[in-house]
Amino acid sequence: MLARLARNAAGLRNALLDLLFPPRCVVCRRAGSFFCAACSTGIEKINPPICPRCGRPLHSPDCPYCKKSPMQIDGTRAVAFFEGNLRAAIHAFKYHHRTELADQFGAMLHDHLLTFPLLTDTIIAVPLHADRERARGYNQSLLIAHALGARQNLPVWQDALTRTRATQSQTELDAAGRRQNVQDAFAASERVCGARVLLIDDVCTTGATMDACGAALYARGAKSVWGLAIARAR
Ligand SMILES: [Zn+2]
Ligand SMILES: [Zn+2]
Repeated sequence: MLARLARNAAGLRNALLDLLFPPRCVVCRRAGSFFCAACSTGIEKINPPICPRCGRPLHSPDCPYCKKSPMQIDGTRAVAFFEGNLRAAIHAFKYHHRTELADQFGAMLHDHLLTFPLLTDTIIAVPLHADRERARGYNQSLLIAHALGARQNLPVWQDALTRTRATQSQTELDAAGRRQNVQDAFAASERVCGARVLLIDDVCTTGATMDACGAALYARGAKSVWGLAIARAR
């Protein structure tokens, strides 16, 4: 009852806000939605053939990335390449408080899973370190996880994975540096024992962060871990 009242109140508030401040596309400022259809058509989706592990487009029978540095987790997937309008939208979402985009990103992941299903029974977001989350005001991956969970009818386990130490930003690091930077930076709770985890991140570059999360989840007995991101580096 209380939950429904709260939902109705939130819905009413959102409808009012939409009326007062109609949503505008974060990329082109066109009114109507936060990431408009015209801007989203420019997104280049990642379609098969892909590597069954890392999810990168496959141009030969063997994936050169997985051969060079095999991942521990079952696999990673991303909806599209991290460039152009999608890159701009994710940037606005992450660094300019455009949290309204979470719903559209959750819908993108949901659509992806309808076409390319993964066998999972719980959703966990890649955690930020508490200091960074406090500074930003939110964990962007957790917002996407909730939007996806509502659509997939899967629970989101918010505190099942934590970042135990602050890590340097991955953007300036090469592949080996990224792996080292996030190694042993995460800890999972006993709750994940036996669970088939769907791990959510906004962007996946080398997969090092997801792999480090996976290691922490397996250490606590997770049955499987699949990583899913909105976008990945080409
Ligand atoms: Zn637009
Ligand atoms: Zn691969």
